[in-house]
Amino acid sequence: MKDESGQVIVIGGGAAGLMAAGTAAASGRKVLLLEKMETPARKIRITGKGRCNLSNSAELVEFMSHFGKSGKFLRQSFQQFFSGELVDFFQSRGLPVQHERGGRIFPAANDAPAVARVLIDWAKDCGVEFHTGERVSRLLIHDSEIRGVVAGGREYSARQVILATGGRSYPRTGSTGDGYRLAEQCGHTVIAPRPALVSLKTAKEQVRGLAKLNLRNISARLYINGSRKAQAFGELTFSGTGIGGPIILTLSTLAVDAIREKQRVAVHLDLKPALDDRKLDARLLRDLESRAKEPMESVLRGLLPQKMVPYCLREVEIAPEQIAGQLSAKLRKRLRTWLKDLRFDIIGHGSWEEAIVTAGGVKTSEVNPKTMESKRVKGLYIAGELLDIQADTGGYNLQAAFSTGWVAGQAAARVL
Ligand SMILES: Cc1cc2nc3c(=O)[nH]c(=O)nc-3n(C[C@H](O)[C@H](O)[C@H](O)COP(=O)(O)OP(=O)(O)OC[C@H]3O[C@@H](n4cnc5c(N)ncnc54)[C@H](O)[C@@H]3O)c2cc1C
Repeated sequence: MKDESGQVIVIGGGAAGLMAAGTAAASGRKVLLLEKMETPARKIRITGKGRCNLSNSAELVEFMSHFGKSGKFLRQSFQQFFSGELVDFFQSRGLPVQHERGGRIFPAANDAPAVARVLIDWAKDCGVEFHTGERVSRLLIHDSEIRGVVAGGREYSARQVILATGGRSYPRTGSTGDGYRLAEQCGHTVIAPRPALVSLKTAKEQVRGLAKLNLRNISARLYINGSRKAQAFGELTFSGTGIGGPIILTLSTLAVDAIREKQRVAVHLDLKPALDDRKLDARLLRDLESRAKEPMESVLRGLLPQKMVPYCLREVEIAPEQIAGQLSAKLRKRLRTWLKDLRFDIIGHGSWEEAIVTAGGVKTSEVNPKTMESKRVKGLYIAGELLDIQADTGGYNLQAAFSTGWVAGQAAARVL
């Protein structure tokens, strides 16, 4: 099939696809964006709990470290379009940003839907033609060169196609993993997709009575087959079925892989990370002495959130009415150990419906890191979460989608 139009086709109207489409159109190319949902950018609208943590101000090397092994692949994209360029992009289009703890960058108005609106309006102003409600089902390839796509039974021709269909997480936003099949169809290797940045499940009785409890400034250690693999400090939330919140999401990628390989996984919490064993013992002795006549139930309220007190008493096997001044040294030691090393056996992880990102995806060694062009199919570019790139929370994942989208849009526009 001959491409008479000279158009670039972008598949998927998420962060990567919109950035790619606008960039190619701004460089003077005719661009058609095919999005299977009725509205593009559904995922962007719900990012950052509706606030959209769109990037992070960390320096390049630290930024890349949040992607683990896949960070290296992204270096050349970040060198072309990074957080500074992204902030300028949004600020110059009437969306000021604010910087928060940990370098996180948010829109000043805390408005994720506004991020989607700015991107869509910009792409339209650049001349991108949107076809929504159109799902691409096939790529047309001839002699290892892209010739077009099939969507809704209709063939669209193009010599440059940017595949930006996202991962598999939050499928109700449209990211149902179509891109993996499309990429495999043209010879790409897909590293098995797994839910990442996801909560972890424990036996129900282990979290009984703790649902919705939020703990701040605690530390969590991840153990796989009895050996310590990672640690995170910050905030944790209990649910009726397990543990979640920022520090658990951080540990979840390693945990999910280990669970799937049927390894033994446990998370140990240190509820008093600022105190070593000696200091914690001194603190306990002080509390027990100064409140010697009170029941342990009320003494523990000074050490733990209210909801955790009955849980702690049950686990450490101290009677609620036990008089503090008469607590044995053995029980005090058991309490101290519990506070520093509260253990949860992990028996599973959250589903695709609640995973923030997808680990795995199109193997990055099969994609040119300078242009995002496929090394298997000429004229095919792959951007965003569909690639085997995934990072911690903190704005890194969206920046990677924007950066790879920008690079793909530039590169596709250059070839004619
Ligand atoms: C709840 C939640 C909160 C998040 N918060 C943050 C955050 O604050 N900061 C951060 O950095 N990251 C966050 N992320 C991750 C981030 O949103 C994603 O990494 C990023 O949006 C990926 O962009 P993408 O363009 O690659 O894919 P997507 O945004 O998933 O877009 C892919 C698009 O392709 C379309 N599509 C799929 N298949 C087809 C097809 N066959 N034909 C046509 N169109 C198709 C989909 O409908 C979709 O619109 C969050 C994710 C979730 C789920």
